[in-house]
Amino acid sequence: MSAVDKLFQGNVKLPSPPAIAVKILETVRQDDYSVDKLAQIITSDPALTAKVLGVANSSYYALPNKVNTIERAISLVGVDALKNLALSFVIAKEMKGTSIGLFDYNFFWKRAVTAAVASELLAPILDYKNDDAFVSALLKDVGVVIMYLCSPNDYLSVLREKQAKGLSSIEVEQKVFGFDHQDVGSEILKRWDLPQSIYAPIALHHRGEVVEGQYAKKVELLILSDCFSKMYHSGRIGESVRELEEVLQDGYGMETGAAEELIDAVANKSIEILSTFEIDAGDMKPYSQILQEANEELGKLNISYEQLVLEYKQAKEEAEALTEELKEANQKLQELVFKDGLTGLYNHRYFQELMDKELDRSRRYAKEFSLILFDIDHFKKINDSYGHPGGDQVLKSLSNVVLKTMRESDMVARYGGEEFAVVLPETNETGAKVFAERLRRAIEQLETLFDNRTIKCTISLGVTTCLPGAEVENKSILIDSADKALYRSKNNGRNQVSVESLPAG
Ligand code: GH3
Ligand code: MG
Ligand code: MG
Repeated sequence: MSAVDKLFQGNVKLPSPPAIAVKILETVRQDDYSVDKLAQIITSDPALTAKVLGVANSSYYALPNKVNTIERAISLVGVDALKNLALSFVIAKEMKGTSIGLFDYNFFWKRAVTAAVASELLAPILDYKNDDAFVSALLKDVGVVIMYLCSPNDYLSVLREKQAKGLSSIEVEQKVFGFDHQDVGSEILKRWDLPQSIYAPIALHHRGEVVEGQYAKKVELLILSDCFSKMYHSGRIGESVRELEEVLQDGYGMETGAAEELIDAVANKSIEILSTFEIDAGDMKPYSQILQEANEELGKLNISYEQLVLEYKQAKEEAEALTEELKEANQKLQELVFKDGLTGLYNHRYFQELMDKELDRSRRYAKEFSLILFDIDHFKKINDSYGHPGGDQVLKSLSNVVLKTMRESDMVARYGGEEFAVVLPETNETGAKVFAERLRRAIEQLETLFDNRTIKCTISLGVTTCLPGAEVENKSILIDSADKALYRSKNNGRNQVSVESLPAG
């Protein structure tokens, strides 16, 4: 029993060939058929006429002038080519289905038309001389549609298994049906009385390697044309293009440029023919265009990458500038917290912290340090004579003198209104006394200019020293001691230095 008989065993009826196809085939089978008769059959179907003329006038045939009649088209394109073209349209139309089910008719015919166009373009390269290259490639898989139409559920399970296991349709069809679409397609075309040169090679188009004899070249053409179709419609165009280019170069001696042109031409002509077949070409486009678009995308990506780098650099610079500003602001804030607004000297709070640190250091490293407290003598009188601003001016100029007189490592703070404290690290009593005396003299000689007048002042100082290893419990002991010395200076007549020694530990 033949594959088709098996397929139609049930209640399913064999699809009959489209009436117009039968008429065309009957006419051309007669030895003495006239071109007029063929033209008459085609012309009787206005839609078919429009399609045939559409293709005849397309860039496909590149005719010099527009062709308006089927007779003229036959004379220019050739009777066989035109007959095959008409058959293609008729059969494809019959088999187009409604695409309601799970079988994608549009995809099927898109692939078929692409293969047909490729086959037509490949014929001269393979030195294939018959005019049936297009129609043969178009109908090579028609068995698939017929198997689906007759047994939709079985065929859908073939498609599912093929997809899931990555097998070939032939393998799965054989497993599910016991025959495959080559057998069915070939047999049905034979029953529809298509020429043997069309149906015979279709039975072999998946057995390429073993085909020899009269259909060898035709089968090769079908297989190669299918590679083009697969490439454009498989979704993995990049890989398949390289493979195909290799085949065209190594197998058929094509130059790289010619191979690329052929690959593009298949897409361009397919898109044109697909519209005549009323099949949606979707986003099909020539490979060079796909490549160009990909490059443009890449270019855009590069530009946005460069832009991103630039923006990043700018953001980084801004952030760095901001960090610098923040650092400066913090420093200013720190100064505000620890410095006296009028004189710019450290304030009481800072002095207290520093005393703690110095005491700690002195304990840990057994280092001595000295503390001097001093107070402006009769400052009230200065305020009274020159006004408060005059007093302020004295406080400022006095502060500058202290800063100039002391060493870098020393520290002076405004302890209170007109009272100051100087911390002298690593300085013994003698050293502190010498410094206090030098400072006293410097202030004595200071002349503060205010309101075109000269203000003079003196200070009284009290010196104390924290000896190395001394058991000083806290900073108050030292401050009290210096204060005591200062008090003594005041009592003894002011403008002098007094020393108060702490009892040794
Ligand atoms: P003594 O020699 O005993 O220290 O006499 P004195 O007048 O300097 O001492 P007293 O403590 O009696 O007065 C200190 C004055 O210092 C009182 C106060 O108005 C003034 N004073 C305190 N702070 C400031 C200031 O910031 N600016 C000015 N112009 N005067 C101040
Ligand atoms: Mg005073
Ligand atoms: Mg005072």
